[in-house]
Amino acid sequence: MEQLNYSPIGDILTTIITCILLTQITAGHTKRNSGYPYFLQMILFTYVAAAASVTHYAILLNSTGEIPPVVHLLGVLHYVSLIILQALNILYLAKLAAMPRSQMIVVRSVCHVGLLLFTLLELTSDFLSLVIPGLSGFKRIPVTAISFIPFIALVLWILYTYRSRIVRLVYTRLAITYLFCAIVLGVQGSHGQTSFTTAIYLLPILQLIHFMHPTPFDANSGTFDESAFKAMIAASYKKREKLFLACLRLYDYEDILTLSDSMRYDIHHFYSDIVRHGELFKLPQGRLILVFREKYNKDPDQVMSRLTESFSSLYEHYHAGFQAVLMESVDKLSARNDYVRFIHFVEERTASNSFHRVTEQDITDYTRHRYIVKELGDIASKMDLEDPRVLVYCQPVYNVTTRIYDTAEALMRIRLPETGLLFPDQFISLAESHGYIHALSLILLNKTCRTIKELLEQDKLIRRISVNFSIEQLRLDNFCDDVIRVIRANDIPFEKIAVELTESQNETDFNMVRDKINHLKEYGITFYLDDFGTGYSNMERIMELPFDIIKFDRSMVIESAQSRNSEFMVNTFADMFRKLNYDVLYEGVEDENDEARCIRMLAGYLQGYKYSRPIDITGLGDFLSPRSRVAHH
Ligand code: C2E
Ligand code: CA
Ligand code: CA
Repeated sequence: MEQLNYSPIGDILTTIITCILLTQITAGHTKRNSGYPYFLQMILFTYVAAAASVTHYAILLNSTGEIPPVVHLLGVLHYVSLIILQALNILYLAKLAAMPRSQMIVVRSVCHVGLLLFTLLELTSDFLSLVIPGLSGFKRIPVTAISFIPFIALVLWILYTYRSRIVRLVYTRLAITYLFCAIVLGVQGSHGQTSFTTAIYLLPILQLIHFMHPTPFDANSGTFDESAFKAMIAASYKKREKLFLACLRLYDYEDILTLSDSMRYDIHHFYSDIVRHGELFKLPQGRLILVFREKYNKDPDQVMSRLTESFSSLYEHYHAGFQAVLMESVDKLSARNDYVRFIHFVEERTASNSFHRVTEQDITDYTRHRYIVKELGDIASKMDLEDPRVLVYCQPVYNVTTRIYDTAEALMRIRLPETGLLFPDQFISLAESHGYIHALSLILLNKTCRTIKELLEQDKLIRRISVNFSIEQLRLDNFCDDVIRVIRANDIPFEKIAVELTESQNETDFNMVRDKINHLKEYGITFYLDDFGTGYSNMERIMELPFDIIKFDRSMVIESAQSRNSEFMVNTFADMFRKLNYDVLYEGVEDENDEARCIRMLAGYLQGYKYSRPIDITGLGDFLSPRSRVAHH
């Protein structure tokens, strides 16, 4: 080693920086990152390289007599550490790029072979050449410089080949950093210097840590983010450690940062006072999750009730609407890291400004809910028009004029292996909110069409069957085409199908709904306005839509039984619709009184338990009359 060309400043600085980096990356949240082992090793080997180099130098400088060759092993350790560092760098990048297995094996082998080769070379040139006189020819081969060339080539190759897997911003910056290292090494070498070799290897590590491990800690609010929350759940599940979660949702705040200073201070205050070693996480839409462990909080129940009190006082003071969900970790949820969704689910069933302590029942219900959503998603993605999980039930509708059952309403049911038969209140709104409803409807429509076809072949008189559609589906561009396609594929006349729609309160929907109704009416499809009398009816709007039949909701049938005035009111509506050429159908006719009253109130059609509960559509034929006989009347 040429003492003259070496200053320990680079290596001393590097040992200091690596020590600080170590304290930083061993913080809880970084530890949970999957790249953590690589970073830890990279930093450790950088430390070893710098420490070995500086020690080697110190011994050389301070020794007066003959230096034992063993000391030179420190120099070897220095350079071998750098070679290991190169290998780790490459392996980490390969992981980052999510290389396919076969490529990964090749890269790994290259790293191992390179490591072995350069280590041997280093050993020969820097150590054996000193010990064994015959090998003196190998002395001072610049191993680091030689190994740096294939190293940088491999790095750039990975960054380039897998650029689509690494965000552009990141991979260009990484490439620049590696090139910069090469330049600095070159400049240093051209001056016969080695002082900053180890320090140069720190640069890509700093860069990687900055990009890959942005701290999930928000210093402004003193909270960690959602990814940190998930990482914490994953880690505690691995360790089989029980967590307690107090989840607070503040309605009027998108972000905890929008809270007033005193409120923010209060939230922090109670959590740091009531809970020991708690961690506070911030989720979107004004949600805060405080997590604490039994290890530090001996009586978690008491902690929970003290938290509850604090939440209340917060509300009394600030009048900020909230919901709070309190729970312990549940293995079933931890395994899927499913708390965020679960908390949303529980919030749905929690009243405003109140607390909910999660029960077994909530978890069972949630598991069932997830299962149903998953199955509905599966039905929607397979889009098999014969899917056996979608069942068609129906209710025959009594025609007051012809005195026979000649129409019916199709009603959807879902049958799943784990839940059995499901009714619309258990799945329709889920299917709507997840965007699965259209697929389900098309399956139902297809099966309904096929039944109509069979009934016609059996010479049954069936004027039409009505099918319910949601407003969400109508918004789809291909709604009309899909409906037409399914009916046409079953080879039945279009007028055998009716569409039931409920009123949309949304003004912007209006033109869209009208255009789609008009388009499908041209084919001969009939339209029913469903659930008239629930919510606020906009009569003007209804009259601008070309419906054929107005379905009076069961609530109107019940209302009309209350007094003569109520009957008069319902009758007036019915009269008005009749005069405007709409037909009137009463839903929810349960007994003879209902029936008599509805007929007085100008009923054209009657539907309800009085005639039939919803039945499997295969039983509909029993209610229908033969076509030939009726035709002769
Ligand atoms: P809806 O369109 O108003 O359907 C009538 C509901 O009233 C049916 O409930 C039926 O069983 C019930 N009902 C019939 N007669 C009586 C009666 O005399 N008394 C009482 N109390 N109830 C009666 P269901 O089958 O549970 O359907 C509930 C709702 O689910 C339907 O209300 C409809 O809005 C929706 N739905 C059903 N099938 C579909 C579908 O294929 N697509 C869409 N989007 N919604 C559907
Ligand atoms: Ca309906
Ligand atoms: Ca209805």
